[in-house]
This record gives sequence, structure tokens and C-alpha cells, in this order.
Amino acid sequence: MQRRNVIVVGAGPVGTVAALACARRGLSVTLLEAQARIDDSPRASTTQPPTLEILAELGLVDEYIRVGLTARTFEFWDRPTLERIAVFDFERLHGETDFPFVVQTEQHKLANMAIARLRSMPNAEVLLGTPVTAIEQDEDLVTVMAGERRFTADYVVGADGGRSTVRKSLGIEFEGYTWPERFLVITTKFDFAAALGCCFRSYMADPSEWTNLFKVAGDDLKGRWRAVFNTREDESDEEALSDAAVRARLARIYVPEPARDYLHLNLYNVHQRVARHFRKGRVFLCGDAAHVNNPIGGLGLNSGIHEAWHLSALLNRALRGENADLDDYENIRRPLNIKYVQEQTVANKKRLEEREPAQRAKRFAELRAMADDPRRHKAFLMRAALLERS
Ligand SMILES: Cc1cc2nc3c(=O)[nH]c(=O)nc-3n(C[C@H](O)[C@H](O)[C@H](O)COP(=O)(O)OP(=O)(O)OC[C@H]3O[C@@H](n4cnc5c(N)ncnc54)[C@H](O)[C@@H]3O)c2cc1C
Repeated sequence: MQRRNVIVVGAGPVGTVAALACARRGLSVTLLEAQARIDDSPRASTTQPPTLEILAELGLVDEYIRVGLTARTFEFWDRPTLERIAVFDFERLHGETDFPFVVQTEQHKLANMAIARLRSMPNAEVLLGTPVTAIEQDEDLVTVMAGERRFTADYVVGADGGRSTVRKSLGIEFEGYTWPERFLVITTKFDFAAALGCCFRSYMADPSEWTNLFKVAGDDLKGRWRAVFNTREDESDEEALSDAAVRARLARIYVPEPARDYLHLNLYNVHQRVARHFRKGRVFLCGDAAHVNNPIGGLGLNSGIHEAWHLSALLNRALRGENADLDDYENIRRPLNIKYVQEQTVANKKRLEEREPAQRAKRFAELRAMADDPRRHKAFLMRAALLERS
């Protein structure tokens, strides 16, 4: 078996970007994916400005924007009264980024797009249906086992998701906690923008049950909405997924009775966890393999793509014998994830679920004040878009 520069484990959005970024720098790359096809169930879609900049560098951004929806603003609402509390406008980021907006493109589209590019490159190979089972390394090289098959490389990128086999085989702890409630995503063709006047990214606070509304393009580009809810802590999965409970939730976000049909349901556990280390020897962790968080604010996947980009540059320099400190990866990326992704997603969740009336009023007043003050508005967006770097 030919030794590669880099093996990437996992062809999710992070692994495919890592592989493409390495291949475009001229490195020989093998991408190993357990599944025979890319999972297209509804997961992340919000793509922040710095991530769009990376996709531009990779030559993917035009296609990416074409198969998604552009959202210039996001809004906070009070769900019980249907009052719009604050609007944040990415136009305020003009001059800070070439992309003063987010793009809502489903993550499987990015993975499939990057795989198509990799398949056209002579220095890259993509092996689907190849689950990695173990990793061994010495000072000189890494060996990746996929059942009976063995692959060798100078470096390995573990981008194999929250349950990462790579992280476990390195014995790295995944520190943090799991929230007691789960998140339910209802995908529907009901047009919330037309019915409620909300934008394509709308966060609706409610002390009993919050809702976030997002519009995505869908594979047919005809458009559909995802309504994300918290479940009750004592609610069983079966109950949350029951037709009656789903229709009741749609009723609580003002969907009229005849329009309460839905296309898809997704119920999942939500965690805040960060790996104790992002690197062990010649093996690196990226994306959900390194950290997981609640999705409110659309930050986890974006930070994973930033890591993939940063790591590809470091590995490229190291492999070409240029000055590269591979410890920079963990030293820079791990604190960034804690400060910008973990802290903000926890704060975002608390903002939506606040139960105490005086605290709710205070949080709403704070949001209004931020939106009204140009300097604070921009500062809030710089953090929310992961453009602020320290
Ligand atoms: C059910 C669910 C719903 C979500 N919803 C949202 C949302 O609404 N909004 C949001 O912002 N984020 C959401 N997220 C989080 C978001 O999807 C992740 O942050 C994102 O997928 C991370 O990308 P990744 O490439 O790091 O990992 P993944 O997308 O998990 O990709 C990992 C890949 O590795 C492969 N793999 C796993 N083990 C092996 C192995 N041993 N060998 C080879 N390949 C392997 C997997 O098959 C997969 O293709 C959700 C996550 C989940 C699990």
C-alpha cells in the first residue's frame, strides 16, 4: 500500500474540506468514509462569513451559494407575543469580510461537492464504505486499519464525528456534558416568512418551549423550513416523535391546522464537549471529533471547517520542510472553540429558554440596546459570525 501524505478519516463536511484543502496544496490524500453514501438527513446548514471565505479559496463558493439560500439578517422574537425583539444585519460587516451574509446550505451538499472535486484530482482518492477500526503510530508514520485493510500516511486527520473512533483509539477524553433535553427538528413546507413575517434565521424565545426557524433550499431548491424545538426533560423520544406531539408543536408556532403536515423529523441528543487534546503525535482531531455543542447560533460545523483549513496549511508546511509548529493547531484551536463556540452556544441557549420574567425582560432589553447601537451591533456580529479572532 502506497504511503500517503495525509489520510482523512470521515467524509462529513469537515473531513471533505480537510481532504480537499490538503489535495489542492498538492499533498497526496486518502479520504476514508465508513458509510457507502453521504448522510443527507437534516443537520447543519448555516455557513458563516469566514467559512464562505474558505469555500471561496477552495473554489466551491459559487456552487455552494447557488444550491443554498442567502440570509443577510437574523432575528430574535418573543414567541408567546410574536413580537420581534431585535434584528441583526450582516451588512454591518462590510469591509470585514467579502461575504457580509450567511448562506443556508445543507451540509451533505458541501460534502458531496468536495468529494466530486477530490475524485477529479490525481493526488486524491476517496474510499466510501471503509470504516476505520484502529490507528497505530510511531515517530515516523501512522497506520490506519479498516478491518483487514491497512493504510499508511505521514499524518492523519480524524474528522469522524462526535463518536470518533480516532479520538477513542488515541485515548483522548471528551470533556463536558450532555443536556437533559433533546432537540427536535421538524422539516415542513409551511412558509413561516409569509405567515409570520420572520426572516430565514429566526430565534424565538419562550420560557416553556423555544423555537428556531430556518429556511433551507432543499435538494429540489424549492425551499423548506426547519423548526427546531427543545423537548421537555421528561418527554420520551416516542412521545416527542408522535404525530400528535409534532402537530401540537406546529400549532404552538402558529401553523394553522390544515398546514400541519411535515416532511421529516429529527430528534437528537445535544452536548457541550471538547476533547482534552486536539493532537497526539501525528494524528489530529477536527470538527465534531474534537468538539460538540448545541446548534443554536450555527457555530460548531463552521469552527470545524476553520480547523480543517488551518490544519491543512500547517501540515503542508511541515511536509515541505518549511517552518511549521504543529502544536499551534491545538494551542490555537482548542481555546478558540471554548471561547467562541462553547461559550456563545451556551449563552444563546440560555437567552432563548430564560424562565424568570425579570431576567427575560432584561435579556430582551439588552438585545434591543445592542441592535440599536451601531458599535455594539457590529461587535455582536463579529463574535456571532466567528470573525473576531481573540
Ligand atoms: C443528528 C444531528 C443533528 C444536527 N443538527 C444540527 C443543526 O441543526 N444545526 C447545526 O449547526 N448543527 C447540527 N448538528 C451538528 C453538525 O451536524 C456537526 O457539527 C457537523 O456534522 C460536524 O461535521 P463533521 O464533518 O465534523 O462530522 P460528521 O458530519 O459527523 O461527519 C463524520 C463522518 O465520519 C464518518 N465516520 C464515523 N466513524 C467513522 C469511521 N470509524 N471510519 C470512517 N468514517 C467514519 C461518518 O459516517 C461521517 O460521514 C447536528 C448533529 C447531529 C448528529
